[in-house]
Amino acid sequence: MTELVLNRHKLLATYARQDVTFVDGDGAWLVDAGGKRYLDLFAGIAVVGLGHCHPAPLAAAHEQLDRLWHVSNLYWTEPMQALAAKLSDRFGGAGAFFCNSGAESVEAALKWARKATGRTEVVALEGSFHGRTFGALSVTGQPAKRAAFEPLVPGARFGLEHVGPETAAILLEPVQGEGGVRPLPAELLAQARALADEHGALLVFDEVQTGVGRSGAFFAWQRLGVRPDAVTLAKGLANGLPIGALLVADAAPAGFVPGDHASTFGGNPVACAAACAVVDAVDDELLANVRARSEQFAAALPVRGLGLLLAYDTAAPAADVAAAALAHGLVVGTAGEHTVRLTPPLTLTADEAAHAIDILLEIS
Ligand SMILES: *Cc1c(COP(=O)(O)O)cnc(C)c1O
Repeated sequence: MTELVLNRHKLLATYARQDVTFVDGDGAWLVDAGGKRYLDLFAGIAVVGLGHCHPAPLAAAHEQLDRLWHVSNLYWTEPMQALAAKLSDRFGGAGAFFCNSGAESVEAALKWARKATGRTEVVALEGSFHGRTFGALSVTGQPAKRAAFEPLVPGARFGLEHVGPETAAILLEPVQGEGGVRPLPAELLAQARALADEHGALLVFDEVQTGVGRSGAFFAWQRLGVRPDAVTLAKGLANGLPIGALLVADAAPAGFVPGDHASTFGGNPVACAAACAVVDAVDDELLANVRARSEQFAAALPVRGLGLLLAYDTAAPAADVAAAALAHGLVVGTAGEHTVRLTPPLTLTADEAAHAIDILLEIS
């Protein structure tokens, strides 16, 4: 224990971590190094959608670990093809590019949009978050996150008023996640669709956080009634193993040809095997649970959001509320200085939600 604490300065200081070391997880519960149990309403930033150690992706990953770990994208593997087929079915016809994170899936989308249109501009929205790599950061509508790293990739514009003949893609999150959990009005999504069609631009939804059931549908766009040309996925796709995906609708221009884009680890058999099990587990029953738990939180707390991507504003600094929750055995996230974010496992039970609500009301 002491040795672990002494080694903390060996990590670069990119995070203000809470002072807790988790060692075990089971469903919506975490255990720290001292044996204390916590109800997890954060799921590792909306990643562990089926809960910790869910038996289905666990068994699928175990089985694949025992067979084959990696051969690269210069060959075919079965889990990659199976996952692409499952995601295409969910989307209603799409081709997949697999990578290892959300930011990488956005990079793939940006390159695809330029290649497919021959244009260079991308219109994103103020308050958006698309990742920390240079391309993804360039289209992230939060000046404070960009400032120290300029000059960034040129061609980013913020606001739908900038859509025009040079626009390769309109990129948006159906619910802005990191930017404060702000659902975009359905009219704004419809307007983005109409503008993209009018100007021959591609409409890309960044569903890295909203996808794979978190919204109460497999894709958030299915709840909001606007179909994009492409969608990015990552966080919840493999229940905690690293994976990202760009899905391009069959009806959209293919854009990429061999040699245009690549990833050494992308489509990793173990991650894809786990992701296949996750996609299969996101069924009507689970999605109904997401919507029911969402309503349960909304009835007790002043939350905004969609499905189990929820947040509410606090008078006290959100970091203080999160620390108080942790002391009470509850893990919550933040999304801005005065916003508490709730992104529990989609498998959260009514009793677990009630227990969490009791704690949140007690400490607020
Ligand atoms: C988290 C997130 C990303 C970045 O994902 P990483 O895996 O951290 O690179 C991109 N877009 C959205 C909408 C996200 O929530």
